Amino acid sequence: MQANHRSLFDFLRNKIISQVKKRNRVSGQINDLMLLLRKKCLHEEVVKTPMQESDEAKNQLPKRICICCALEEQASGFSGMSHGFNKLEKSRVVKEVPLAEFCKYRELRPFKKLQEPQPV
Ligand SMILES: [Zn+2]
Repeated sequence: MQANHRSLFDFLRNKIISQVKKRNRVSGQINDLMLLLRKKCLHEEVVKTPMQESDEAKNQLPKRICICCALEEQASGFSGMSHGFNKLEKSRVVKEVPLAEFCKYRELRPFKKLQEPQPV
């Protein structure tokens, strides 16, 4: 390998190594923040997937996700008045969505600003 190629590769490799370290540090900070948010969140409102009749019932049980902190659970089964959830059992279901839309709630987004009343 020629010297100028070697220095280019060294530069690129060191830059990548440095950026990966930064990414891992930020990723750890995000995980810590998510844990804190989920610990403090009351999980008041959730979005759920519908119950679907299927031979593979285990994979078709409904899922819920908190719209504030993205805590996610899959129903473990129904018994009596229970919907089969643990932390999200008593949360208010605000919307039922197909799985593809449900997955979008895994990424946190800013809440929409409350609309100010328009003057008449
Ligand atoms: Zn929550």
